[in-house]
Amino acid sequence: MKIIDLKRLMNKYGDIKISEIIQREQGRRVYECPKCKGTGEENKVEYGIQGYTPDRHYKVKCDVCYGFGYTEKQLKTKVKTEIIGYE
Ligand SMILES: [Zn+2]
Repeated sequence: MKIIDLKRLMNKYGDIKISEIIQREQGRRVYECPKCKGTGEENKVEYGIQGYTPDRHYKVKCDVCYGFGYTEKQLKTKVKTEIIGYE
């Protein structure tokens, strides 16, 4: 983080503790998002054509927490179980 970023933070919140800023921003979103693990972003890959265009790696806003990284409700991973064959 650059000095200018810190100055911007102080202009926005005043001269308060970092823990108070976190508390203010987080609000009721106290549970870490299980999909993006709190980053608010998802990594995506758009595969290129071999020998022509390279793979493109990019990030998108997480669609579970809407980019906050944290959720108000505690979410659990839903797993789908299906029969794929017999042995
Ligand atoms: Zn998320």
